[in-house]
Amino acid sequence: MTDKTIVVWYRNDLRLHDHEALHQALATGAQILPLYCFDPRQFTQTSFGFPKTGTFRGQFLLESVADLRATLQRLGGDLVVRSGLPEVVIPAIVHEVGATAVYFHKEVTSEETSVEAALTDALSQMGTRFESFWTHTLCHLEDLPFAIENLPELFTNFRQQGERSSTIYTTRPTPTTIPLAAGVAPGEILSLAALALVAPIPDSRSVLAFQGGETAGLARLNHYIWEQDHLKSYKQTRNQMLGADYSTKFSAWLSLGCLSPRRIYESVKDYEAQRVANESTYWLIFELFWRDYFYFIAAKHGDRLFRKSGLQGREIPWQDDWERLDLWREGKTGFPLVDANMRELAATGFMSNRGRQNVASFLTKNLGINWQMGAEWFESLLIDYDVCSNWGNWNYTAGVGNDARGFRFFNIVKQSKDYDPDGTYVKHWLPELAKVPASKIHEPWKLSTTEQSRFGVKLGVDYPEAIVDLFKSAEANKRLYNAGV
Ligand SMILES: Cc1cc2nc3c(=O)[nH]c(=O)nc-3n(C[C@H](O)[C@H](O)[C@H](O)COP(=O)(O)OP(=O)(O)OC[C@H]3O[C@@H](n4cnc5c(N)ncnc54)[C@H](O)[C@@H]3O)c2cc1C
Repeated sequence: MTDKTIVVWYRNDLRLHDHEALHQALATGAQILPLYCFDPRQFTQTSFGFPKTGTFRGQFLLESVADLRATLQRLGGDLVVRSGLPEVVIPAIVHEVGATAVYFHKEVTSEETSVEAALTDALSQMGTRFESFWTHTLCHLEDLPFAIENLPELFTNFRQQGERSSTIYTTRPTPTTIPLAAGVAPGEILSLAALALVAPIPDSRSVLAFQGGETAGLARLNHYIWEQDHLKSYKQTRNQMLGADYSTKFSAWLSLGCLSPRRIYESVKDYEAQRVANESTYWLIFELFWRDYFYFIAAKHGDRLFRKSGLQGREIPWQDDWERLDLWREGKTGFPLVDANMRELAATGFMSNRGRQNVASFLTKNLGINWQMGAEWFESLLIDYDVCSNWGNWNYTAGVGNDARGFRFFNIVKQSKDYDPDGTYVKHWLPELAKVPASKIHEPWKLSTTEQSRFGVKLGVDYPEAIVDLFKSAEANKRLYNAGV
């Protein structure tokens, strides 16, 4: 062991490409000790009692850690894996190997920043140097044309100013060798059972068999953009709900950092230079700006993101209605578009953006249920759960976010007719409606008893009656919303 060893603490950045902390550590000429620590706090329960990391993301995480280890090993390195509190585990490793510094990527939300604070306190007491770097966004924090406290509250203002003035940094090169700090036991990657999780049952109806890790993430990038050439029509297909390629599905890999947003950006720019530049190629960057925006909003507003009154601080008498929440969670509301999407989420850990907007609107604007319950259910199940995107989007959809556009709700029936005109998506997830014709499938509560027997679906028996009237419930919730201060 040389006298210079740097611990690179891996968190939601499970990759080698465009890895600022690793790049900076290698640049010092030190030996590197890459470390991943399973933090038991991530495997407890949310405040409403759902598993904080559900089985889909749990599996994806284990695959991503295993892939990172395999890649590091191919380059002469390894991934040291431990389980425990990072603020305890990392100082112990530093002590064990006599490391001179710890490098890691910064996060912005409180659970993550409090771990950083505890760790850096412990390291300071030991006299160990640490450095943190910014990596998760397309635009660099220091490159924004405003200080974080002056971040525009409206997405459009943020995007326009960002597009005008931010340079997107070139990705950091992928290292070809890693000088490994020797003498530390590599440690075992935990099993799902050790995380108290049961393996997910693969479902052939899933949009994609998601495989965790940088290798699979880069392969997906290559498949979507280059092999299948889907980028040129992304804007036209992105609102669909069925199949692997209507949207990129990059979110799962972005969430754990298996893919860097700048790597996606560079691929889009290469594609524009080599194949075509159009509205669709621009639109993927536009969506990555949404991702950035929620990240920076979280950095600006801190814990207000998680409060019931949201970023707006608006007090609304949301209901903690478990009975109806369960119907929503199980896909038994009687609204086929909502039910199909909720069953897809429960069976696969994924749901399209169109679906997410509709089910979140239905929960908050039709059922009047506490949006935090919905956000936590998503947190538990989503394979691509990202703290900033999830809680930011839920704030936005519940109408307590930073957009001050009042009570807006999705007309579920119209959405269903517009985005699933033939009912193909709905029938994919609700086989009991298989014989209902497209003209009737969006509003099954209107089926006469003769139609019900003709189409083989008895309402209240084979498929639920609608649990609310779409417009009356929205009116009632609008009154509550507008009375909120
Ligand atoms: C209530 C609600 C909760 C959500 N929770 C999450 C979450 O936990 N994690 C997550 O990654 N996304 C979340 N989203 C945003 C969006 O639904 C997903 O990013 C998208 O569906 C992922 O599929 P994709 O990668 O194929 O998207 P694409 O359409 O291919 O978009 C490309 C990328 O752009 C980004 N993006 C697109 N739309 C949004 C958006 N509205 N907000 C932020 N980033 C966006 C994502 O990184 C996505 O991977 C949520 C949206 C809603 C309405």
